[in-house]
Amino acid sequence: MDGIIVNTNVVLQDTNEPSFWFIFKGNKMLVREVGHELMVPMILNPKDINIKPTRFHNLGVLHGRPCYAVDIPESFSPPPDFSFQGLWFIYDYLDDELFNMAIKAKQIIIWDRTSIFCSRCGAKTKDKEKERAKECPDCGFVMFPRISPAIIVLVEKEDKVLLARAVRFKENIYSVLAGFVEPGETLEEAVEREVEEEVGIKIKDIRYFGSQPWPFPDSLMIAFIAKYKSGRIRINRNEIVDAGWFSYDNLPDIPSNISIARRMIDWFIQRHRGKK
Ligand SMILES: [Zn+2]
Repeated sequence: MDGIIVNTNVVLQDTNEPSFWFIFKGNKMLVREVGHELMVPMILNPKDINIKPTRFHNLGVLHGRPCYAVDIPESFSPPPDFSFQGLWFIYDYLDDELFNMAIKAKQIIIWDRTSIFCSRCGAKTKDKEKERAKECPDCGFVMFPRISPAIIVLVEKEDKVLLARAVRFKENIYSVLAGFVEPGETLEEAVEREVEEEVGIKIKDIRYFGSQPWPFPDSLMIAFIAKYKSGRIRINRNEIVDAGWFSYDNLPDIPSNISIARRMIDWFIQRHRGKK
């Protein structure tokens, strides 16, 4: 692998089988176009498609193949039958495990780009041996990839679900409520606070639903189901444009299937459709 400066804790697997290469230029990932499909490039060496990365990261093994993340400069033009695409666009073409690996690749690359200098003293950091971290040679500060936990919650009131249109939504879609966890909070406290702050109601019976890594930029969405307890909807206009209770057979426009929000709403629909 001449021309590649290997991250100190990275060893290329000794294999004659192609590996998955998650190659990022800015926020977009390189994909191979095969007919109407998009695929993660499977190659032995990035040199095969004329890429000479300066840094790459070992992501582990998926579907029996080693996986690597690579960051390349803006000046690179993709070879024929390859293009750079945003993760939203790629989602429909990859299985869930490959898509989550692409998210992992992107989160690690963004962390790599933004931790070149020590956030305590400003000196240039070095890769730490034997773990994914950077260490400051001057002050000893260690920087790990950062994950920002965010909660997302579906609130039920009898056979209806609480959906809101957030100020930040570009389109006219309604979804469940979400927000970042604050320092010192439990996840349950964050769920109660977000619902009360955004729509002014109290909830009860908070239960875990599932989770999803979210690469915009470094979140982990932790999803909950809860039941309505008390209060009337009072919208926080800084965050929410509109909110209401909706039955499964009379829903507004809801998010695409990329998100855990959609999985939760689909769960609600299935549950109530089944009762009829
Ligand atoms: Zn330092």
